[in-house]
Amino acid sequence: MPDLATHACAQVLFTRPRKALPHALLGALLPDLLTRGPNIVWPWLGRQLMVLHQPIGLLLLSILIAQLYRPERRLFIIRWFLFGAACHLALDFLQWSYSGSYYWLYPFSLNNYQLGLFGPEDSLLALPILLPLLLVGLYRRRNQAQIPQQSPNDPDSPQ
Ligand SMILES: [Zn+2]
Repeated sequence: MPDLATHACAQVLFTRPRKALPHALLGALLPDLLTRGPNIVWPWLGRQLMVLHQPIGLLLLSILIAQLYRPERRLFIIRWFLFGAACHLALDFLQWSYSGSYYWLYPFSLNNYQLGLFGPEDSLLALPILLPLLLVGLYRRRNQAQIPQQSPNDPDSPQ
């Protein structure tokens, strides 16, 4: 599990457009928040909660969360939540873990597939690089959002 800050940084760097970022961040952070946090308090819940850290569980969770929004927004919410969740699972897939219990293909398989390219805490070493990149990215996005976009077909656009 790369830490939550690494998941958030990756999401900010990869998510376009800006209005999708809150939903993508939710998708990127909830898999660990809903499984790791409660697992610390109630360890006996650990295995049962892992369904919220798997593709099928996250798909169902995105559909459930989308019900909190107006019907015309639900597909947008589901799509960007799943984009964030997919980025989260991709980062987790690249590492090796102590527990070895991700079960990506549950309920079809209980095998654990990970590439083992880096360890669970190694992402902390990347944070001193990722955090400044994140801040620069957020600053640039903020400035781009404040510049009004003019269309060449816009009659109000100066020629
Ligand atoms: Zn994770």
